[in-house]
Amino acid sequence: MPKRKKRDRRVRYAFLAIVLCLAAGGAGAAVYLTSKASSANFSAQIYGAVSPRLNVIDVDFLRDNNLKFTQDKKTNFVRSLSALGQPIPLSKGNLVSDLAVSNQFLKDYARFFGVGDSKQLILHSSKKDELGLSHIKYQQKIGGVPVFGAQMLVHVKEDLSVNSAAGKLLANVSINTNPKITGRAAGDAVKRSWQKSDKAPKVSAGKLYIFNKNLLDARFENKNHLTWEIKAVDADSGFSETYYIDATSGAILQKISNVKQISRRIFNCGNNRNRTTCRNMLGAAASRAQNDRAEGWAAAGVAEVDNVYQMMNQAHNYFQNTFGIDGANGRDGIGDNTDGHPRTSTDVYADWLIPASWGFNCPNSFFFENKLMFCNNTVNLPVVGHEYMHGVAHFNGPPLTYAYESGAIEEANADIFGQALENAVTGSSSWRIGPTGGNLWRNIVNPASLNDPDRFYSNNFYCGDNDEGGVHNNSNVISHAAYLLATGGSFNGCSIDSIGQNRMERIFYRALTVYLTASSDFNDLYDALDNACGDLYSDAICAQVRRALQAAEIDQPGRCSGTAAAPKPTCFPPYILSVSANAGHYRANQSITLRFKFSKPVRTAGAVDVFAVLNGRTAEKICSLDLSSRADDVSCSFKVNDGDSGRLRVDRIEWDVKRPILDADSSELTDMVPAEQFPKGDVIIDTAKPTGSVTINSGAKTTASHIVELALSSNDDKAGLLYRVSNNGVSYSRWDDFAATTSWNLYNADAGGGVFPTTNSGYPRTVYVQFKDQAGNVSDTYSANITFSRLTILIEEPAQLAVPTSSQPNGANLLLNIPPSALTIPGVNVTVTQTSAVVLPQISTTTVNLNPAISSSLIDVVSVPDFTISVKQGGLTTYLSGAINYWGKGAKCEGPRTYDAVVANWGDGASAKPARKDKTFYASHTYAKTFGSYKILVKVYNSCGGSASKSLYVKPQI
Ligand SMILES: [Zn+2]
Repeated sequence: MPKRKKRDRRVRYAFLAIVLCLAAGGAGAAVYLTSKASSANFSAQIYGAVSPRLNVIDVDFLRDNNLKFTQDKKTNFVRSLSALGQPIPLSKGNLVSDLAVSNQFLKDYARFFGVGDSKQLILHSSKKDELGLSHIKYQQKIGGVPVFGAQMLVHVKEDLSVNSAAGKLLANVSINTNPKITGRAAGDAVKRSWQKSDKAPKVSAGKLYIFNKNLLDARFENKNHLTWEIKAVDADSGFSETYYIDATSGAILQKISNVKQISRRIFNCGNNRNRTTCRNMLGAAASRAQNDRAEGWAAAGVAEVDNVYQMMNQAHNYFQNTFGIDGANGRDGIGDNTDGHPRTSTDVYADWLIPASWGFNCPNSFFFENKLMFCNNTVNLPVVGHEYMHGVAHFNGPPLTYAYESGAIEEANADIFGQALENAVTGSSSWRIGPTGGNLWRNIVNPASLNDPDRFYSNNFYCGDNDEGGVHNNSNVISHAAYLLATGGSFNGCSIDSIGQNRMERIFYRALTVYLTASSDFNDLYDALDNACGDLYSDAICAQVRRALQAAEIDQPGRCSGTAAAPKPTCFPPYILSVSANAGHYRANQSITLRFKFSKPVRTAGAVDVFAVLNGRTAEKICSLDLSSRADDVSCSFKVNDGDSGRLRVDRIEWDVKRPILDADSSELTDMVPAEQFPKGDVIIDTAKPTGSVTINSGAKTTASHIVELALSSNDDKAGLLYRVSNNGVSYSRWDDFAATTSWNLYNADAGGGVFPTTNSGYPRTVYVQFKDQAGNVSDTYSANITFSRLTILIEEPAQLAVPTSSQPNGANLLLNIPPSALTIPGVNVTVTQTSAVVLPQISTTTVNLNPAISSSLIDVVSVPDFTISVKQGGLTTYLSGAINYWGKGAKCEGPRTYDAVVANWGDGASAKPARKDKTFYASHTYAKTFGSYKILVKVYNSCGGSASKSLYVKPQI
């Protein structure tokens, strides 16, 4: 399997790089710089002697060149260095290979790491990864002797720029590299100290190293030793240790164990519920009879026992090789020193039977904090890997709370690493988990096939309390996303490229061990995985990670939250959520702002043209969206033209396909939203000014009150229509909502009303009105006139005439006919309460019956047309004038009648006998008292001594 071997080597190498970077980052203080320098200024200082500590000038140099770096807390030397946005500047350009670039970097920067002479850094290895990044490792050597643990990594991008570098080097080394003792003598020293067995170990030939324990751990003394590295292997057990022997004194400075061996104890339960029957192995003799199997024992001959024995080793090796942990607990095993399970042991109960009291049955399998248990037929790689991962998570994770979402994450990790073990051993994953030959427990490829959820809003997502909150169902959302990352595929409208199973495993492992907390939920896991990926891989890889997790919807609140899912998962290519303009009416030269909301921040290099339909015309370009910076909410504005009218509808946006609209993960906007989503709210373009009219007091010519009623009309849309009023055409009231009628003060001073008059004269007034529509179009000015006077003459209906008596002329009648037109006097307001002619009842109609011989033809008629009243300034002069028509005859007073007299009683004590001539009379009277109410009585006497009278009131008023 050469292919697998290659992959493993790469993985191991990458892990080493990570550890180095972490060590560098962990020991130093991060300094983030924002100052930017256009180019590096390499002055002579850079090649100067290395100072014991990094000085201020050096730090300034890094800052000036916009570099991010961390410094060793003790020595101040740089431990890691990376570019911020631009490549790390080098003093020499035009370098043709990654190695040349890397070497130049060392010439320019090694001194910042404590090594002034870059020749001390010898190329160790160079590897280019699948992303095009070259990882070039150097070993520090002094006089050809390597410094133990002193390595430098330089990462060069495909464009031959240095992306970052990290290293922990030994500064100011001054040491004699000639050993005083030989390598053989050092080996002998190891042999002498050997206590693992009675036999002397096999020792390697010595290899010289400069050894400084302070480089391993800052707690130790910073002292350089020339040492011999000797590897010793026990002849019988194969146990080995590596020694560092002082090449001057022969003293053992350090020994490092090479043992990472698993110690397995498989208890064969023989499909028995009684756990103690599986514990007899502790007495070795009994255990063999039970077909148990402990480390180094021959095969038990029981498939379950022997298989799990082997798989434990495979699981142990996978986690050690991949993540550098020595057993799930990091201490050789999965035990916790309780319940008879030592830390160094990996204890398994095989072919175990679940006690009846548990309420559920085999097949199943368990991790129990210090041991693993497998029912019959559950020993297969996905299941064994699953349970072993529970152990890894228990000892290396937060650990996660085993309930609800955090519990589902725990279960998902177990499934994912069950698949990882299967892949590590067989070269591929089945993405299925269940007992051998039995019904599947979970189908990670297609969770729905087992009614399990494949996304956070799946109807299969379980929101109840059973199974610790559905940890074995809901886990599928996560493990399915991991499957998509490992294999690639399309899901939930999102397309995910495979990032490879190994990368996926590293990302999940790092998220668990670095970023998750005990109560982390799916949303936390999203961030944790994104962060973990960002630590390990390029953004192109992490974009796929985000996409798979977004397809699984774990960046959203989820089904159990009661919050609705987003219309589309976040990974869906960007689309326009909505286009809106402020609804309303707009007129020429006003700007309408169109607001586009995208489903996520987008960016394009070019402008995006917006086409809209105005007034039913063909869609035309109206404005351009600026998408040069990432934004999800972008606006553009345009001005309404004179000719525009009607409704606005945004038709589409157009962009240059060579410069697509992209989101952060380079997903391309390809589709517009359906047209009916345009626009939100009506935009009416209205450039026509409203028309209208105004009438005062229904068209009256005069008014006694300065408060009048205005009747308004307009042809415009009344919604949003405003009006304002002025008394002089210059100063107007504030705009108010349109009303058909409104009360108005002719002397409103705020609207040009002027000074209220103090005399009774008539004052012509003009009222001006304007209208304004929603778009702000203002009408022409409309006006109406009226005359205001403080004086009003009120003519009331006459009192009832006296009933004629027998002495009166039979049927004598009096008709006062006062047409309103006759009362129109310039400057005076006259109110007639009975506006029609005052027609008196013919009073004789009931009384003439006193004499049945009298017919109606004998009725006397007196009419007084053209009765006029006039008022003069300073007093009231009443003029009475009219024509008397008189004829008829009476029973007692035979023959044609003549009238004898007309008598006028003016109501203020004065009376008059109006002069008469033929059938007309005429009289006038001036009242001494200006204001009051006066009853004017006109009485006509005939030649027979009868009379009839008619009265009216005259009431001058203010
Ligand atoms: Zn589990």
